[in-house]
Amino acid sequence: MPRGVVPRQPARTGRQDRVKGARVPGTSAKTTKSVALPPKPRQATPKPSARPAKSKGYDPVAPERVAEILKRLDQMYPDVTCALTHSSAWELLVATILSAQSTDVNVNRVTPELFRKYPTVEAFAALTPEELEPDVRSTGFFRNKSKSVVGAAKKIVNDFGGQVPDDMEKLLTLPGVARKTANVVLGTWFKKGVGVVVDTHVHRISRRLELTKEDEPQKIEQDLMKVIPQEKWILFSHQIIWHGRKLCYARKPKCVDCPLEDICHAADKTWSTVEIHKNAKA
Ligand code: SF4
Repeated sequence: MPRGVVPRQPARTGRQDRVKGARVPGTSAKTTKSVALPPKPRQATPKPSARPAKSKGYDPVAPERVAEILKRLDQMYPDVTCALTHSSAWELLVATILSAQSTDVNVNRVTPELFRKYPTVEAFAALTPEELEPDVRSTGFFRNKSKSVVGAAKKIVNDFGGQVPDDMEKLLTLPGVARKTANVVLGTWFKKGVGVVVDTHVHRISRRLELTKEDEPQKIEQDLMKVIPQEKWILFSHQIIWHGRKLCYARKPKCVDCPLEDICHAADKTWSTVEIHKNAKA
């Protein structure tokens, strides 16, 4: 090895993601000036132009990085949508309320019979929460969910002429409806991208991908709305939710199979070819 040349080290800045296709640090044929090079003894101070280029710093929400994430998500999940079975805005609203702390599979087991038994929003509005409880018990938190569904039905019938409103402010007046549920209904049924759905998958994966450092859904949504182009808000939510189901599990994500691996620096990766960042957590 020539004197003064040291093996290339993994970058400390996480800027490997700028190197297209560089999955394994140190395998590139290119050589770079490294800030880790020890000063050469008895050598004159180099001219400024000969110094290693100063790092500009890693920016996890740099537009080119976000664009690369979106491009790969498009390749992985080109036309995904909401997995909750529904045939109307009302059914989607009910299914989304029932999906809290449950799985879409579990909700889809319950809703066909539920909507056969109570086929209209008016039929739900005529119930008491206690009457609905047995039908939604298996989705968990059934007392609160029954109250929310019946309360929402009554308000929709009394205040909105029996139609689910296609407006965020009005949706937020419904019992049991927060921004996540409203965004699901607006995006999936009405095709209105007025926000980003932040469920447990979006929460976890947005942090792993360092698109946010926040922990509260509303703040995470605000961060995502700043870095994701608005026309992608609806699809991005669905893609991330599918990614959470397919690969990026809460425990033991399948990083070895993940096409985002070389641009993901999450602290809890199970396999990595790049430096991981301690502040990127699930
Ligand atoms: S590399 Fe691992 S942690 Fe990162 S997005 Fe992929 S599955 Fe999730």
